[in-house]
Amino acid sequence: MSIKRNLLEIKSALPENVTLVAVSKTKPVSDLMEAYEAGQRVFGENKIQEMTEKWEQMPKDIQWHMIGHVQTNKVKYMAEYVNLIHGVDSLKLLQEINKQAAKHNRVIDCLLQMYIANEETKFGLDENELNDILNSAEFQSLENIKVIGLMGMATFTDNQAQIKKEFQNLKTIFDSKKQLSIVNCQLSILSMGMSGDYKLAIECGSTMVRIGSSIFGGR
Ligand SMILES: *Cc1c(COP(=O)(O)O)cnc(C)c1O
Repeated sequence: MSIKRNLLEIKSALPENVTLVAVSKTKPVSDLMEAYEAGQRVFGENKIQEMTEKWEQMPKDIQWHMIGHVQTNKVKYMAEYVNLIHGVDSLKLLQEINKQAAKHNRVIDCLLQMYIANEETKFGLDENELNDILNSAEFQSLENIKVIGLMGMATFTDNQAQIKKEFQNLKTIFDSKKQLSIVNCQLSILSMGMSGDYKLAIECGSTMVRIGSSIFGGR
């Protein structure tokens, strides 16, 4: 199967309101270009240095999404160009993104990562921590970031019922915050679903799926 064929097959089956992030981490630029030439413009990477190298080499109409865990001291390397940061899980990180975005006169869109899995290894906020951030005066004073949605990763398991429960839980939190009127927080994106579980995620209300191996092959 070619990258182009995989991509077009997945894309044709996605509902219109669902955005496809092609997760290209560890893959060479030639693979990304194959997807680009097939029309893909949104790419997801999980390492800032690797994403920046690809950004430098590739066409400038690509939207780069950082989907991995972000270290505060590395935000500066992507502040000039990153389109959406999925894995934001602290006020401290939001403050750093805000600071670096200001240097480039930009407003950087962010998703807050929620902890929904039943695993020790996944990052993210619980609902109380989410509330604490959104309600804080510090957060509301940040003019160079905008929180436009939530992101989550389900447990790595074959148990479909459990994955579904976790996605539904995230969707419930998302819906409960959608009406918030905070100047730098308007939730419209729900980023959930990867190669193994994106169909279920869409059934549960995902509007953005992050798909890697089903497009580019295994890593
Ligand atoms: C790698 C990765 C994906 C894509 O995973 P696949 O199973 O290859 O589709 C999605 N989201 C995040 C956060 C990832 O790190």
